[in-house]
Amino acid sequence: MPYCPVCDTSIDLEATPTAPFCSDRCRLIDLGRWLDEAYSVPAPHSLDELDEEESEAPASAEADADE
Ligand SMILES: [Zn+2]
Repeated sequence: MPYCPVCDTSIDLEATPTAPFCSDRCRLIDLGRWLDEAYSVPAPHSLDELDEEESEAPASAEADADE
């Protein structure tokens, strides 16, 4: 028996039109959480900064991991 990911209520998939959520309310709650996470992600570094970090990594690290 699957459970609603929001409130952990057991649900019948065939009898629940809002599956995998137990109700439309839980579906909206889950959507709200998802949007909160999306907005809370910090702004990504610029591509220039990423290139700089990669060039500083020691080249020997790849050879060691190869074994
Ligand atoms: Zn629920």
